[in-house]
Amino acid sequence: MKTELLYEGKAKKVYRTKDRQDQLVLAYKNDATAFNGEKKSSFDGKGRLNNEISSYIFHYLSEQNISSHFIEKLNETEQLVSETKIIPIEVVVRNLATGSITKRLGIEEKTPFSPPLVELFYKDDALGDPLINDEHALILSDATTEDLAGIKQMTLHINNVLQKLFLEINLTLVDFKLEFGRLKDGSIVLSDEISPDTCRLWDLDTQEKMDKDVFRQDLGDLLHVYKVILQRLEARS
Ligand code: UDP
Repeated sequence: MKTELLYEGKAKKVYRTKDRQDQLVLAYKNDATAFNGEKKSSFDGKGRLNNEISSYIFHYLSEQNISSHFIEKLNETEQLVSETKIIPIEVVVRNLATGSITKRLGIEEKTPFSPPLVELFYKDDALGDPLINDEHALILSDATTEDLAGIKQMTLHINNVLQKLFLEINLTLVDFKLEFGRLKDGSIVLSDEISPDTCRLWDLDTQEKMDKDVFRQDLGDLLHVYKVILQRLEARS
């Protein structure tokens, strides 16, 4: 199915496919990185767990009529997606304050944001993914004002849908990061992955962190919490 390696990122490899020009294979790696790549490790089975979790979530979103690059899960670590040109903006949604915003703006941990706060970051490792505003986004990408408005609207809708999904499995969706890409026809769809690598998820009862913060902050067994998330998702369907 897969042929030429197009790109290798921190968490995934992207391959061309043999038959279809407009489809790619995403292969999830076992690597974990944090703090802009300064902290690195590898966990056997993490690629499988993130592929399974992200595939589950993208499939669920498609059932809710949210269009994305996701086509199907191919095997334990790989999925087939539509090729998109990634818009180099990371869209972060925050329902509760934690992480970088508490340090950047001195906002107290766990302050609720209602409506949810949407922030844009420029996707550039060399610059450390800086926070940007809409005017910067217009300069740094080919997105138009209307595209940005559409991206924010989709993002808030996805937040609503995902908050409900995670609540069903006893998790609070604290914050998460989305990426969007442009299909050949110019339309913008959700892209990349949605997994505990890209979301903060707190257990509703115990407040335990069930996401990559376990790795960032050395809180315990990363694979165990990712397994629990997948088990809870699979138990609901
Ligand atoms: N996030 C991500 N990739 C990034 C930066 C952030 O997936 O390159 C996610 C992160 O997992 C969290 C949310 O976006 O769920 C907000 O992250 P924050 O800005 O608080 O960054 P951090 O505290 O990790 O520096």
